[in-house]
Amino acid sequence: QKPVPSDIVISRSCVPKPIDCLAREVGLLSDEVELFGKTKAKVQLKIIKRLQAQPDGKYVVVTGITPTPLGEGKSTTTIGLVQALGAHMKLNVFACVRQPSQGPTFGIKGGAAGGGYSQVIPMEEFNLHLTGDIHAITAANNLVAAAVDARIFHESTQSDKALYNRLVPLSGGQRKFSPIQINRLKCSVFITRFARLDMDPSSVTWQRVLDTNDRFLRKITIGQSPTEKGYTREAQFDITVASEIMAVLALTSSLEDMRQRLAKMVVATSRGGQPITTEDLGVSGALAVLMKDAIKPNLMQTLEGTPVFVHAGPFANIAHGNSSILADIIALKLVGPEGFVVTEAGFGADIGMEKFFNIKCRYSGLRPHVVVLVATVRALKMHGGGPTVTAGMPLPKEYIEENLELLEKGCSNMTKQIENAQHFGLPVVVAVNAFKTDTEAELDLVCNMAKAARAFDAVRCSHWAEGGAGALALGQAVQRASEAPSKFKFLYDLELPIADKIRIIAQKIYGADDIELLPEAQHKVELYTKQGFSKLPICMAKTHLSLSHEADKKGVPTGFIVPIRDIRASVGSGFLFPLVGTMPTIPGLPTRPCFYDIDLDPETEQVNGLF
Ligand code: ADP
Repeated sequence: QKPVPSDIVISRSCVPKPIDCLAREVGLLSDEVELFGKTKAKVQLKIIKRLQAQPDGKYVVVTGITPTPLGEGKSTTTIGLVQALGAHMKLNVFACVRQPSQGPTFGIKGGAAGGGYSQVIPMEEFNLHLTGDIHAITAANNLVAAAVDARIFHESTQSDKALYNRLVPLSGGQRKFSPIQINRLKCSVFITRFARLDMDPSSVTWQRVLDTNDRFLRKITIGQSPTEKGYTREAQFDITVASEIMAVLALTSSLEDMRQRLAKMVVATSRGGQPITTEDLGVSGALAVLMKDAIKPNLMQTLEGTPVFVHAGPFANIAHGNSSILADIIALKLVGPEGFVVTEAGFGADIGMEKFFNIKCRYSGLRPHVVVLVATVRALKMHGGGPTVTAGMPLPKEYIEENLELLEKGCSNMTKQIENAQHFGLPVVVAVNAFKTDTEAELDLVCNMAKAARAFDAVRCSHWAEGGAGALALGQAVQRASEAPSKFKFLYDLELPIADKIRIIAQKIYGADDIELLPEAQHKVELYTKQGFSKLPICMAKTHLSLSHEADKKGVPTGFIVPIRDIRASVGSGFLFPLVGTMPTIPGLPTRPCFYDIDLDPETEQVNGLF
């Protein structure tokens, strides 16, 4: 077999078709498309109304076994599958994927456009600024942060009368406030305490963001200039994709809905215990303005010319880690009833897939048909007790030589993740993403173990080395699995108390004996129940590297109790996120980050070194 060149070499060797041609091919009208150069375009939301009566296509979610540092290839499989269904089986298809954060692109992970001969192209456009959606989120998020601290400062340094004179009269004549804001000012804040929100600075949960892996911003002190008159406080930066505004973008279903979600975001608590929202700050209208273009999905293409929506990429650690609802809605209409939309859920099935169903599908109302679970021989061997690996060091022999014993043990993780998908009533097709070191006997063993676990089917795929042709068997299996009517069901009822919802996820999906609510979490359960947020779905912030809460426990851990340290609320995006342990919200750079290899050829303007 010929060696497979690097991702960027493959990406560059293919001339993408002009994006306006692709837009026409998939049924978009010219006035629904906003071109961003020759390879990217935004799609206007008015198309949803035009295609209202069109039946939806089949909806497929790609997930994986519990991730390991060896990589499983979920994005690569998502793209390989649509290439097989679209370019080889001649069906209407769309892939809907996340926009990657630039932090990891320059840090440790590299690109996220898939890999080998299954990629979104041009991969440098995909991995870098795209059409500026993440930058819009940075701007909107930081406007809220500035509003919070400026408000605390002005309220602390001005009399009630001065505040009243500055804030309230403007709401009439100059229409500085929307009608909803005026109402709120009048009934809640204005009448009782003039325009004072009385935020408790120690309760501020809204952080500043940046799309760079800058570890020194994990804890900072703000307000140190003498102009801020000593109003300093400890704060932090998160990576932009961890902003609640990213989660809002991913979960919204219309411009109107986004405006409302952007108004409901809770930034702090008043000294009297009331939640303070972005609407209270008077900033939500401006946020909608900053986000009005970001809400439109971005059209790109695969190496084999099939269409892709790249839209939203919420941080899977503390949010739900799935691409946008709007992209899926539009794609399902565009492909029509015989077509397929394939989307990817970040991390393993216990995290990304569970949230895809219980959060994303709940808000979208869309019903999935098939789960594709990606597994690799190498990663399963690690779950079977294979040695840990160190970046930059040669792989231990366990991963490059046949070892059926280790592999069979590790298949327990795949079996559990198949069962997790079956809790939702859906057929599971296992995609064994083949690496060149895998042996025939190893690939057969994984397929047989998957079938023994009652997967609908299990097929080996070689789309990384061969493109869509290498995922043909997967495409055919997915098509067969999608023929039965969807028996999809949620895992828990939203009406249940917060702790019960968390317990159901921990017991059924992670295999835990129980959960333990630590004092802060218990306090939040009471607070959120009092504040009326208890009916929200749950978005667990748990390590993705184990089914349990301990990252080093591979395979299928048993006999554990999941400690819930704290619970936070993302009221605008619409979920509560229990914190299991500490979750880094801004990654750091390693000693030798990816940016070492990245450079520009000034002659050709080509980007080199991305992978
Ligand atoms: P995930 O979505 O699970 O994080 P990706 O699809 O991004 O994984 O793949 C991670 C890396 O592994 C990419 O660099 C990709 O090119 C590489 N990769 C994926 N599948 C294979 C394969 N079968 N052989 C070799 N490399 C692969």
